[in-house]
Amino acid sequence: MATAVGLGELAVSRSLQNGEVYTGMVPMVSGEVAEDLVHYLLTSEQIPSALLLGVMVEKDYHVAGAAGFLIQPLPGATEGDIQAIETQIGQLRTGISELAAQSQNMDELLNRLMGLIPHHVLERRAVKFSCTCSKSRMTDTLVSIGEKEIADLISDGKAELVCHFCNEHYPFDLEELKQIHGRC
Ligand SMILES: [Zn+2]
Repeated sequence: MATAVGLGELAVSRSLQNGEVYTGMVPMVSGEVAEDLVHYLLTSEQIPSALLLGVMVEKDYHVAGAAGFLIQPLPGATEGDIQAIETQIGQLRTGISELAAQSQNMDELLNRLMGLIPHHVLERRAVKFSCTCSKSRMTDTLVSIGEKEIADLISDGKAELVCHFCNEHYPFDLEELKQIHGRC
């Protein structure tokens, strides 16, 4: 992964509960997503963390399994607790992708990760890939770039906006661009 990605800047965007998006940037240190995110959490948010990410891709490019663990100590965690977790993570780190593919459910993975460390589940939530972008948001963005730029797009006859988070494409035809021009 590091060979393909190289080094650069890592931008981490968080959608806050009030709807705002907070983006922090740090220089990448390794090119491995998990290591760079841990570095970000430590330097930008001062939270020591361990992150395990794994994805198993089959020869036909279909994903056989993917899993991730983000582990952060709560106040009161002892040095011994942290060391016990670190030992477990060390044993799982290289095999996480295979394990994600083989495991039937998250509990099985969690038990493998925690080993003999006592633990219980506080909450379960479904995870899904989603984005807050929409045609109406993209329209607002176009309105905000100004009358002259919209006039340029109208002379091109069409425009297309691409969301940088999810890669969704939003085409705008001439009629839509004229309406946007009217709102500038
Ligand atoms: Zn999007």
